[in-house]
Amino acid sequence: MSIERHAGMMQLVCDCGATQPETYEHEDFDVMVADARDAGWKISKMAGEWEHTCPDCAEAARRRPHGRLL
Ligand SMILES: [Zn+2]
Repeated sequence: MSIERHAGMMQLVCDCGATQPETYEHEDFDVMVADARDAGWKISKMAGEWEHTCPDCAEAARRRPHGRLL
């Protein structure tokens, strides 16, 4: 869901704690997004914030079209 930044490197992190296996330089944001999409991550911009969903959570969301239980 967020982008971890450490020592100038970026890494996608899902709400469930799953992370993209690679880290990227700040200027490689487009590469990071392209690699993540290739790997099945879902990336969208919601209310001005980037949302990153790992392949497992994206699949779970597809199987549960009505969304949250609460
Ligand atoms: Zn996830």
